[in-house]
Amino acid sequence: MQPKDLLSLAEHFGSPLYVYDSEKIQSQYNRLTAAFSKVEHLRINYAVKALSNISILKLFKTFGAGLDTVSIQEVQLGIHAGFEPSKIIYTPNGVSFEEIEAVAQLGVQINIDNLSILEHFGTKYPKVPVCIRINPHVMAGGNSNISVGHIDSKFGISIHQMPHILRIVENTGMHINGIHMHTGSDILDIEVFLYAAEILFDAARHFKDLDFLDFGSGFKVPYKKGDIQTDIEELGRKLSKRFNAFQKEYGRELTLAFEPGKFLVSEAGFFLARVNVVKQTTSTVFAGIDSGFNHLIRPMLYGSQHHIENISNLKGKERFYTVVGYICETDTFANNRRIHEIKEGDLLCFHNAGAYCFSMSSNYNSRYKPAEVLWYEGKGILIREQETFGDLLKNQIEAEL
Ligand SMILES: *Cc1c(COP(=O)(O)O)cnc(C)c1O
Repeated sequence: MQPKDLLSLAEHFGSPLYVYDSEKIQSQYNRLTAAFSKVEHLRINYAVKALSNISILKLFKTFGAGLDTVSIQEVQLGIHAGFEPSKIIYTPNGVSFEEIEAVAQLGVQINIDNLSILEHFGTKYPKVPVCIRINPHVMAGGNSNISVGHIDSKFGISIHQMPHILRIVENTGMHINGIHMHTGSDILDIEVFLYAAEILFDAARHFKDLDFLDFGSGFKVPYKKGDIQTDIEELGRKLSKRFNAFQKEYGRELTLAFEPGKFLVSEAGFFLARVNVVKQTTSTVFAGIDSGFNHLIRPMLYGSQHHIENISNLKGKERFYTVVGYICETDTFANNRRIHEIKEGDLLCFHNAGAYCFSMSSNYNSRYKPAEVLWYEGKGILIREQETFGDLLKNQIEAEL
């Protein structure tokens, strides 16, 4: 996609606006499958929570992907988008037993991440195959909000509790068909990943009837030119080799599964917002845009550094700006960032806006959620309308006072 395409989409559909480049999503998907082409049975389950627009799910269906879900509503969206329940895996954390039962009844693969649910589920449904989420206690990534493999993490069943898992499986006679790990976001060091994989293989040796091993996700993507990122090709070479060797040793065909969100959609997304005011203070120049953390919260929540381009003035002189939103709270997207000279009315483009951006948006300050557009075969397709005043009042009941 070219800046001129983004400019014309914002002209046509208004701003703020989310735009997703389907070609980039496809190329990331192809990159991952190519990296693991030596593995006979590969399954890529797109993590719905990254970007859950129904048209995005349908796009993944055309690739032959499966889905990774964390709520029954995500499961229902997937089924609505046309996915077979058998191509959906459900990896909840801390949800009610009733929700897990309801998802199992839909025929979706259940992935259980704590001992009490495992025991309860295995006792009640010994015939339903279950995957177990292991916590290998490997620290990956730098951000403690998104690292989930460490010792204090609430995710997964500790690898040290394997004897307890085995006791439950034996007592209930339940069928374990998969072993899973997801060590969190932003894995840089492939050796760390491979080390965690060995722990998963060790865990897998305890079970005789596995169909798949799920290595989760957490691949790091670049945010700007020169950024380090997970070397998927190297990971593919090394892990495929180990996986194929393990499969031989195990004596049964296994599927290797991944469940990436960010890797597949982050770089495909652009968030477009107009500059309402340029404000010079004694210490800085603020560029205030027609948006805020109601639309894009990652910079405030995780300190994510989204690259920002002034696509109205790509040849202009570079100056330093602090880019802020219109929310009545500190709402800073970027501090002292070098951007091509900004005038009021210019359109700023935030990069890496595909994953965890729209899906984390809200109506804070009673603002509308923005529209979403899918760039597909050289054209922009509207896949979500901007909200209207009616949406703000929907489900509210005006009390007779
Ligand atoms: C969020 C999540 C993912 C996706 O993580 P990314 O960093 O976006 O690739 C995968 N699996 C599980 C269980 C998750 O909770």
